[in-house]
Amino acid sequence: MTGTVVKSTGSWYLVRGHADGQLYKCRLRGKFKNKGLKVSNPIAVGDEVTIEPEGGENQGVITDIKLRRNYIIRKSTHKAHHSHIVASNLDQAFLVVTLVSPRTSFGFIDRFLVTAEAYDIPATLLFNKLDLYDEDALGYMKQVMQLYSQVGYPCYPLSAHTGEGLEQVQELLADKVSLFTGHSGVGKSTLVNALVPDLDIKTSEISAFSDKGVHTTTFAEMFEVEPGTYLIDTPGIKELGVVEMKREEIAHYFPEMRARLNKCKYNNCVHVNEPGCAVQEAVKKGKIALPRYESYLSLLQDEDSHR
Ligand code: GDP
Ligand code: ZN
Repeated sequence: MTGTVVKSTGSWYLVRGHADGQLYKCRLRGKFKNKGLKVSNPIAVGDEVTIEPEGGENQGVITDIKLRRNYIIRKSTHKAHHSHIVASNLDQAFLVVTLVSPRTSFGFIDRFLVTAEAYDIPATLLFNKLDLYDEDALGYMKQVMQLYSQVGYPCYPLSAHTGEGLEQVQELLADKVSLFTGHSGVGKSTLVNALVPDLDIKTSEISAFSDKGVHTTTFAEMFEVEPGTYLIDTPGIKELGVVEMKREEIAHYFPEMRARLNKCKYNNCVHVNEPGCAVQEAVKKGKIALPRYESYLSLLQDEDSHR
């Protein structure tokens, strides 16, 4: 039968059967090579797999994997560790941000957006903790939301505490597989709790499969909001990490720059100090927001330092 991987620990996987909705604790059979992908996990949350019952009640083996529609890879910060696939087969990704306590930086937001662009996954920004914003903060939030909406990223304000704006988010989730991420303290756990019915019960069902006393690192975890609607939480993942890119490539992942690239005088322009550069011109005229350009420059520098 077929199912979707909802949790992965590296040594075993939890698979939700498509036909019966039951959870199966599965091991791998055979070799699962990720063609051309240098990653440590052969199977990731979101993967569609074939399983065969084996080893007891609600246990099985994964015998096959369907080709992934897409996936997000997290680059390891330690050289010794491999990169791994965070999740696959995503319809969209949400970044939870806050402008007060704590304040999410533009750099952080833009790295997330560049990652989403690179993997071709639609991205949305959720501005949480609306209840804490005073008039000044609200004004600032509107500016930031306008900045990102203009670039093409939908933005929604909400409060996981008061429930304001939650209905809107629920509508966005319907019939899709959505990844949730954000740096710690933004209220992602609170939000996921508010969005997934009976999260406590679901979490304990899932952890009932865990080997007692064995420390398991989870990369991501998929929850059913309702049949057909799934939310992937990324606990403990500070940042998705940006894909490796060629320096000429980076501007392609900024939609407002991408639209202007063919107007630069030199086709190998990296938009720093070349003459006749349409990107620098647009920054000067305020058509490209300065924080976005600064994020671009910072990514460019990162790539240079890796070479
Ligand atoms: P995470 O690290 O992103 O998972 O954040 P948590 O969900 O643990 O929340 C961090 C803190 O922010 C907790 O003290 C929450 O109670 C608080 N918090 C979460 N959402 C809201 C919100 O909408 N408004 C306010 N005022 N606090 C919130
Ligand atoms: Zn240029």
